Amino acid sequence: MKTIGLIGGMSWESTIVYYQLLNRITREHSGGLHSAELLLWSFDFAEIEALQANNDWQAATQRMIDAAHRLEKGGAQCIVICTNTMHKMAAEVEAAVSIPLIHIADATATAIQATSVSKPLLLATRYTMEQTFYKGHLQDKHNINVITPNEADRNLVHDIIYNELCQGIIKPESRSKYQAVVARGIANGADGVIFGCTEVSLLLSPKDVPIPSFDTTELHARAALAFAQ
Ligand code: GLU
Repeated sequence: MKTIGLIGGMSWESTIVYYQLLNRITREHSGGLHSAELLLWSFDFAEIEALQANNDWQAATQRMIDAAHRLEKGGAQCIVICTNTMHKMAAEVEAAVSIPLIHIADATATAIQATSVSKPLLLATRYTMEQTFYKGHLQDKHNINVITPNEADRNLVHDIIYNELCQGIIKPESRSKYQAVVARGIANGADGVIFGCTEVSLLLSPKDVPIPSFDTTELHARAALAFAQ
């Protein structure tokens, strides 16, 4: 099995989920005591969040490239960025190393294309919902047209990610708020929902929504293992 290099800690609440999924799926696949071969670089998320909030994407990109270099030097055979948002600089990270990057939006697109979903609603950070790096990747590379919540709902989804989910706070009332956002998305024509932030699955599960859901954390972990096996 190849060694998977994880850039995590953004937040560590979802990096734990990656760690569990990668190991659990490896055990299901290979049995017994088998587990995944992993290297993890885990950031202090407060530092990264400050760069995001200050729009200092150049410094954030440099931090990501440094992390990828550390993993490559340590023997990682691929790079997995354990957050959708920080795929904003996926191309720069991939160009800076000589090992492949497993892109979270590619893994998500493959799963969407295996269904009849044609208008998925993207639940993510404001950066991911409002900038072009993620929607554009799905559109240009995979011909998938996502819709995003209205501005008030984007703020709501974003604030719950940073103020609650990334801090390990899970509130039933926030689950209801997310369900209401999904309901408004359906009224707007959504026929699927992308859990487009790696913490969303801490709050919502597929059974909480009446349309097909795509959990980017799980899809990304499975894509990394498909590469590594
Ligand atoms: N983990 C989140 C994501 O998937 C948000 C935290 C971050 O900004 O990286 O986008």
